[in-house]
Amino acid sequence: MKLALWTYEGPPHVGAMRVATGMEGLHYVLHAPQGDTYADLLFTMIERRGARPPVTYTTFQAQDLGADTSTLFRDACLAAYERFRPEAMIVGASCTAELIQDDPGGLAEALGLPIPVIAVDLPSYQRKETWGASETFYQLVRRLAVPCPRTERPSCNLLGATALGFRHRDDVVEISRLLDGMGIAVNVVAPLGARPSDLARLGAAWFNVPLYPEIAETACRWLARELDQPMTATVPYGAGATRDFLAEAAGLAGLPAAWSEAGLRQPWWAASVDSTYLTGKRVFVFGEGVRAVSAARVAVEEMGFDLVGLGCWNREAARGLRACARLHGIEPTITDDYLELEAAIEAAGPELILGGQMERHVAKRLGIPCAVISAPFHVQDHPARYSPQMGFEGANVLFDAWIHPLVMGLEEHLLTMFRDDFEFHDAAGPSHLATHGGPQAPADRGADPTSAPAGPASAGPAAAVGGPGWTEDAERELRKVPFFVRARARRNTEAYAAERGLAAIGVDTLYEAKAHHAR
Ligand code: SF4
Repeated sequence: MKLALWTYEGPPHVGAMRVATGMEGLHYVLHAPQGDTYADLLFTMIERRGARPPVTYTTFQAQDLGADTSTLFRDACLAAYERFRPEAMIVGASCTAELIQDDPGGLAEALGLPIPVIAVDLPSYQRKETWGASETFYQLVRRLAVPCPRTERPSCNLLGATALGFRHRDDVVEISRLLDGMGIAVNVVAPLGARPSDLARLGAAWFNVPLYPEIAETACRWLARELDQPMTATVPYGAGATRDFLAEAAGLAGLPAAWSEAGLRQPWWAASVDSTYLTGKRVFVFGEGVRAVSAARVAVEEMGFDLVGLGCWNREAARGLRACARLHGIEPTITDDYLELEAAIEAAGPELILGGQMERHVAKRLGIPCAVISAPFHVQDHPARYSPQMGFEGANVLFDAWIHPLVMGLEEHLLTMFRDDFEFHDAAGPSHLATHGGPQAPADRGADPTSAPAGPASAGPAAAVGGPGWTEDAERELRKVPFFVRARARRNTEAYAAERGLAAIGVDTLYEAKAHHAR
């Protein structure tokens, strides 16, 4: 048992639903108790789909458990086939149905339906949503893809995009456009938008692009082995990685590595003098593994940030993420426990958090700016406008989205210079972020007591209970430190004083600690 309040991923059958819902002409019969239809809302509300997911639930109740739940399942399969006439069907069990062991695969096969029926066995108590999506897609590809002649023109398959994926819809458009510009056609995009019959012609492509490796890599490895299709290794996230990706794709297609960068503004925006103040900003990156590693590269190489934390919630990606963290000389945070993550973020003292929906909450509590880069996400991160994360337009989007929550350079300067001014006092916070300032803001946990009224803009860990106390002079001196690094200055000084057994922190201690930590 584990006490859990927030989970980063749903159960694996939600991953299977993401694959089924992303596709056309595929139906999912899910053996599940009454109430499991809640998952429909993820698609109809967060993704705002205009149709119900193609899922039939058996919705058994307590009274059914004493009778014959396998008949319920068989009937549901038949009814789903009759009503929807899909090209193929997947069948499986949710967590509760897994316990009653009705064997959906065997039962469905015995029905002798005239379409491929694919069993997806998802161990709900060991695995999670992303793994469920990967396994479902792999089983579909394994069953439906067959050898076929390669297309005349160089082509590839874009694999891994699903329903409810973070910006998957627009990433597919962006990457297809870039590949097309180089003369590489997209043979099949899957699962998103594909039909089972499209999976049958996957083998016609010259190579595969696992756009979201956590979901597509297992299927791509199978395609490499069985249909002799190579696959790309670079995820085109950020301007640099997009260039690497295009060069790799050109190599696999036997074409010259030449592409247009018209419309790519991010490198110049990041190099322009107005971005100088971004250099060395401390950033903590957390999310789905491959996304976090990709974002870390962009943060360091393309934005000039300092990476002070890196982590992911999916253990499957831990190895790659550990290697990346090691390169940056930081300790990786691999956890699906948001409290553990919150402690790691607090200890690292970042000025910007890049994460998912949960990190937005953590950031709000700690008074740190935050941008969303990864699932899990809420409605506002499935936007109406075109906003890819990948490719050159994706790089533009990343620049805008990551910079927006930060205090602008001039404002940072004003807030520091005129801290006694009615307009720029500490609690006012950056003007463009109502949630980061204002006297009405809740007194967040860890708010810096040196500023009154307390506001998240001055947030930071309070003095350690029972630690050395601050003299009035020292408190006043601390207030001269810009608010966005003040919490860190306070923490460092207290640690310095505690190590030396000092009873009180005076102005001298503050400067001695500063000199000590600057060494
Ligand atoms: S079967 Fe699984 S997903 Fe459904 S309600 Fe129970 S625990 Fe939740």
